[in-house]
Amino acid sequence: MKYLLKDIIGLMDFRELVKLRGDIEGGSVYLRQLVEENIREKKEKHNKFCITCGNRINPYLPSNFTLLIGPEDDQRKASFCALDCIQYFLEHTNQRVQEEEVQDYGKQR
Ligand SMILES: [Zn+2]
Repeated sequence: MKYLLKDIIGLMDFRELVKLRGDIEGGSVYLRQLVEENIREKKEKHNKFCITCGNRINPYLPSNFTLLIGPEDDQRKASFCALDCIQYFLEHTNQRVQEEEVQDYGKQR
């Protein structure tokens, strides 16, 4: 489930909102730190498991691969534990893209 900032602020109680306003008025040090910590944790989480087979990824093995997927402002990481996992992912992604192109072409006619 995706949460938007306005949803989260709507769920906060009055005391937390007043504390947040105080932090913003004081330069947002706490808020900035909280956002940076969460971004770092989410980036690390993406690297722990192979997106194809689900195996835990050993970060010290040279056989790991990571792809950056998507446009510049919305890039996502996909990590893989081995060469055959990244090949499987790319082949099925290519197949899915081709099927979507055929479906889109069919809708245009
Ligand atoms: Zn794998």
